[in-house]
Amino acid sequence: MGKPAKLNEAGVRTQKNSYAAKISEHLRKEKCPICAHIAQSLDFYFRWFEIEYCNSPPTLFALAAGGFCSRHLPRIEHLGPELSGTYRYITAVRREALAGLLDELRRKLNKRRIDGQRRWHDFLWRSKSIDIHEVLTRYQGQPEPCPACRNEAEARKVAADAMAAFLASETGHREYQAAPKLCWQHLIETMETAKVGHPETVLFLAECHAAQLESLEREFDEYFRKLDYRYAGEPQGEEQTAWQKAFRFFTRE
Ligand SMILES: [Zn+2]
Ligand SMILES: [Zn+2]
Repeated sequence: MGKPAKLNEAGVRTQKNSYAAKISEHLRKEKCPICAHIAQSLDFYFRWFEIEYCNSPPTLFALAAGGFCSRHLPRIEHLGPELSGTYRYITAVRREALAGLLDELRRKLNKRRIDGQRRWHDFLWRSKSIDIHEVLTRYQGQPEPCPACRNEAEARKVAADAMAAFLASETGHREYQAAPKLCWQHLIETMETAKVGHPETVLFLAECHAAQLESLEREFDEYFRKLDYRYAGEPQGEEQTAWQKAFRFFTRE
């Protein structure tokens, strides 16, 4: 496997033109172009994580202040002991933070244990646990978002912009009409993106996918009709895969 082209730290390819050129290809392969772009961007990100990011300061800071979410964590698990440097750093940062928290809590506790009235002040300490809450909140802070989620969000924005521009062109319009493949979530996001500069694209997408859903409903009707024993002998057709088409449309890849 060749070394991937160098990306910025977020791993997002920002050359919209190269993405626009790929939209037709994704449509021909019956893929949602935005899902496909996000998947590609994440693949690049994790390839670079393995080669370089896992030990680069920005990634280390982000991981120490937040970490990967449970959806993306499995993408790095296969690296095994190669993650030692990364997690060594995270351990040190968290240990320091916890030591700071301990210091502060001890200081507060000791302040209340004065004048030999320990029992009375222990009672006060417990009754004012709001102090602990305040310290904990300050130390927890606002966790950094998962770097892969951030990559996804940036890739989605780039892809939705490129998709809206593609649909505004005559060729793009024609190609999409022949193969409307955006998934539901990315259909809505493309409409959101297009609504300012290209309201006609929003109308086009709404019409296009309304027709798609009507056709799907007809297929479902046909599927259930053929479940009836009176028509069960009729040849099976497109209606047998209606669930699959609906499933793919309503599920982000
Ligand atoms: Zn999608
Ligand atoms: Zn994530």
